[in-house]
Amino acid sequence: MLIGGKQLSISPVEQLFTLFNETAVALQEELSCTYLEALAETGENLFHGSVLQEEVSELTEKRLKKQYAEIDLSKFSKEEFRKAYQLVILKGMKENVQPNHQMTPDTVGMLLGYLVQKFMNKTNFRLLDPAVGTGNLLTTVLNQLQGKIDSVGVEIDDLLIKLAYVNANLQEYPIQLFNQDSLEPLFIDPVDAVVADLPIGFYPNDVRAADYKLKADQGHSYSHHLFIEQSVRHTVPGGYLFFVVPNGLFESEQAPQLKEFLRENIIVQGLLQLPTAMFKNKAAAKSILILQKQGENVIAPKQAMLVDLPSLSNAVEMDKILTRIEQWFQENKR
Ligand code: SAM
Repeated sequence: MLIGGKQLSISPVEQLFTLFNETAVALQEELSCTYLEALAETGENLFHGSVLQEEVSELTEKRLKKQYAEIDLSKFSKEEFRKAYQLVILKGMKENVQPNHQMTPDTVGMLLGYLVQKFMNKTNFRLLDPAVGTGNLLTTVLNQLQGKIDSVGVEIDDLLIKLAYVNANLQEYPIQLFNQDSLEPLFIDPVDAVVADLPIGFYPNDVRAADYKLKADQGHSYSHHLFIEQSVRHTVPGGYLFFVVPNGLFESEQAPQLKEFLRENIIVQGLLQLPTAMFKNKAAAKSILILQKQGENVIAPKQAMLVDLPSLSNAVEMDKILTRIEQWFQENKR
């Protein structure tokens, strides 16, 4: 790129962003669909190396093929694909997205990846994200793990699961994806770990909720509570669960039931409060809750990891916290 007569090099992420963006805009016009729908289409084209949409005019087809051919996909790393794809999705989500559909931010994904790696401390396991959305959180975590991770994602929204599928293909992850309500029966083998940025709010299906211990005595149940119970059901004894939860999780009127359920089935390993500045307001602030399913030889930590995270851009404070977390692992996990 030439700016002020100077040659500026374009980063790999920018290169991919431009390709995704320009081809999505072209498809959006031709297919009269939303930007995100067009993005899923162009991602699929890119993966297959052809233009799959029959409605596209000859001229656009030619242009798209030329743009796809100009880029050598093998040059890019998984993280470069993930970051570029995340940026185009964010652009599309600005148009219209419900708060509960938002992608999990990188900082949260990175932190979760670090925690999953430290707690699991092995390279071969099964991982489930029952609210996989665009797959951004799941692949952020996968990109920090080494070894053979067998992963499963479930998502109710047709478009988001399509974006997740394209995301998985571009990053070459054979993630098993299910497009369904995660609170309906899940036909999956038990997993060793769960990660999820939980959808927060009421679950409208009272009949289905009746199948859960955490159903509300009256009115609708909290879907984030039901998600926790469903995830525990599908985790092996001793397996770990990492959830992004609202800060007020243990303060709602349905919290006593949740606490009782956790006491009977779970060991709370940690609660890390994310910096409030990351969220629109205090009420929207979230924490990371780390649970372990009870089982033989599973022992509770001397003390749960309780952390109030500083602003993640404050390197000095963040360093101190990471040292404390490392110390906690030395004292509680071997
Ligand atoms: N981690 C995801 C990502 O990086 O894109 C975002 C998770 S978002 C906070 C919560 C997701 O849960 C949304 O994608 C929403 O569509 C999904 N969801 C809500 N209710 C669901 C249900 N009953 N079954 C499956 N998915 C559901």
